[in-house]
Amino acid sequence: MANDKLPTPERVLVVAAHPDDIEFGAAGTVARWVNEGARVHYLLVTRGDKGSDDPMTDAAVLARTREGEQRAAAAEIGVEGVDFLDEPDGQVEASLAMRERITYAIRALQPEIVMTHDPTVVFVNNEWVNHPDHRAVGQVTVDAVFPTARDPLNFRQHIDQGLAPWKVAELYLWSTNEANQIVDISDTLERKIAALEQHASQFRQFDETARWLRRRSEELGERTGYQAAEGFRRVMLAR
Ligand SMILES: [Zn+2]
Repeated sequence: MANDKLPTPERVLVVAAHPDDIEFGAAGTVARWVNEGARVHYLLVTRGDKGSDDPMTDAAVLARTREGEQRAAAAEIGVEGVDFLDEPDGQVEASLAMRERITYAIRALQPEIVMTHDPTVVFVNNEWVNHPDHRAVGQVTVDAVFPTARDPLNFRQHIDQGLAPWKVAELYLWSTNEANQIVDISDTLERKIAALEQHASQFRQFDETARWLRRRSEELGERTGYQAAEGFRRVMLAR
C-alpha cells in the first residue's frame, strides 16, 4: 500500500502535448488513482507527428501510429477516455483558440484535478530544454483552469450549449523544478513502464529507457522513503 496519504479524486483530466508525455510524467500516479476508483481522461494536444529522426517518415502515418500507441498506453492504465485536439506537433501556441478548446474539456468533464506540464520550466533540472509545446500546453491549460473555466462570461457559448462553469480544485504539474508533492508509486511503477512501452515507435532500445525511468523513480522515492515516486508541483486552488 502507498503511504503518502494522497486523497483519491473522483475525476481527473490530464492534458499533454504529445503521446508519451503522460507516461513519462504522471502515469504512476494516474494508475494509483484509477486503482482507487478515480475516472481519468487524457487530452492530447498533438498526435506527435514530428516524433521521428527519419526524414523520409510520412507524418500522417506516424500520427496514426502514435495515436494508437497513446490509446494502448491509456488502456494499460485503465483510463476512461482519450481525446486528441490534433494540433501540429512542434507548433503549439498558447493561443486563445486553444484555451477555448481546453476550457470546453474542463467544463465538460468537471475534474477536481487537472494534471499538465509545468509551464514555467525552460530547463528541466538543468539537464535538458523543455519542449516549447510542453510550455505552451502547460500555460494554456493553467489559464483555462483559472480563471477561464470558472467564470461564466468566458466563452459564454459553452454555457449556452448547456455546460456549467467549473472550478478545478488542484493542479498537478509534472517535469517541474519545484516539486512539492512526492507521490508513492511503488505499487504502480511497473504499470507505468508497461504503459510507456506501448509507445514502440519512440524507442530503439526500450530496456535502456525502462532502466533509466526505474532508476529515476527510485532515486526520487529514496528521498521520501518510498520504493519509487513521481514528483509534482501541486497547486491547491480551492482554498
Ligand atoms: Zn512531449
